[in-house]
Amino acid sequence: MLYLDNAATTPLRGQVLEVMLPFLSEDFHNPSSVYTPARKVRAAIDDARIVIADAINARPEEIFFTAGGTESDNWAIKGVLEASKRGRHIITTQTEHHGILFVCKHLEKIGDSVTYLPVDHEGFVSPQDFENAIRPDTCLASIMFANNEVGTLQPIEQLAAIANKHGVPLHTDAVQAVGHIPIDVDAMGVQLMSLSAHKFGGPKGVGVLFVKRGTAITPMFQGGAQERSRRAGTENVAGIVGMAKALQLSVEEIPTERPRVTAMRDRLIHEILTNIPHTQLNGASGDRRLAGNVNISFRFIEGESLLLHLDMKGCCASTGSACSSGALEPSHVLMAMGLGHELSNGAIRFSLGVNNTDADIFQLIEILRPAVEKLRSLSPLYDDYLKS
Ligand code: PLP
Repeated sequence: MLYLDNAATTPLRGQVLEVMLPFLSEDFHNPSSVYTPARKVRAAIDDARIVIADAINARPEEIFFTAGGTESDNWAIKGVLEASKRGRHIITTQTEHHGILFVCKHLEKIGDSVTYLPVDHEGFVSPQDFENAIRPDTCLASIMFANNEVGTLQPIEQLAAIANKHGVPLHTDAVQAVGHIPIDVDAMGVQLMSLSAHKFGGPKGVGVLFVKRGTAITPMFQGGAQERSRRAGTENVAGIVGMAKALQLSVEEIPTERPRVTAMRDRLIHEILTNIPHTQLNGASGDRRLAGNVNISFRFIEGESLLLHLDMKGCCASTGSACSSGALEPSHVLMAMGLGHELSNGAIRFSLGVNNTDADIFQLIEILRPAVEKLRSLSPLYDDYLKS
């Protein structure tokens, strides 16, 4: 199998599974219980919190365990909105993950106000647009760090400086960035940040919301006193312990993995653009793009059809388009970047990770070239192009 969908999820690392297993067997005790075996479980959670806080330069008490990126995103928006004394206006961008966008759409339906900042052709928001959108009743801004479809890295420090100048808390969805890029929440200047373990070799269904000390936020859940009464519910101990190990390993490897994966990414982009005509790279290049992200539009064909062809050859990748009521909806990210329907629907995301090597790149090109040729030979659009 040729796995090129690491932005969707990553394989669990062997060392991570190893540290999780005891908490799925002999160390099963409830961390809130008072007896000795339970105290060992509590200590494992406390240790994990310290490891994660260290990895992003936060304090342990600023780390709140959640069930993943979607929960962290939902909580950041709803929790800050509910606690805010400023008002009920939120600023976000048109290219956020649905974990943010659909919360905002819901809030609009119940009377709150949301500004969706536009992006340029590479997916960047304009700091000036952001500053202009801030109002006296703006209670929160949420701007993602790394885009999941095109890998664009927003200038978060610059945006945070603007937010801080106006006293507006800034949340960043860093689900695609954490474990792949060095993260320092203090230097970034954000008040809230989401991360998710399964994007960096950890287990699914566990994540973190970083909440800077002093940031007003209502609890995600009411119930027990877990997570300092902000997120009730018996902890996902194995998940939390696994997440800490995965983050520790990933962060240690960033200095070697980031340049290695970046070089692989650039090779793949070069190989596709030079070997397959009528293709274009979507998003930014160099350091302003996630190391593992390659998003390419193949003109005259549907990305979904190409995906099926790749799947038949054992290659896993993805598109940003969603199938709703039988029709293909183009990616909201690519449309916001001004691509139009044809180029948006013809886009495929290949996302590289720690397990990929250069051999995968050449294997992909071998599969990709005939698949694109075949689909184009069946495409009326391509036929029209050849006749024109
Ligand atoms: N935010 C971004 C940018 C993502 O890419 C994802 C997952 O694809 C999420 C949030 C949701 O994370 P989770 O799958 O942990 O709910």
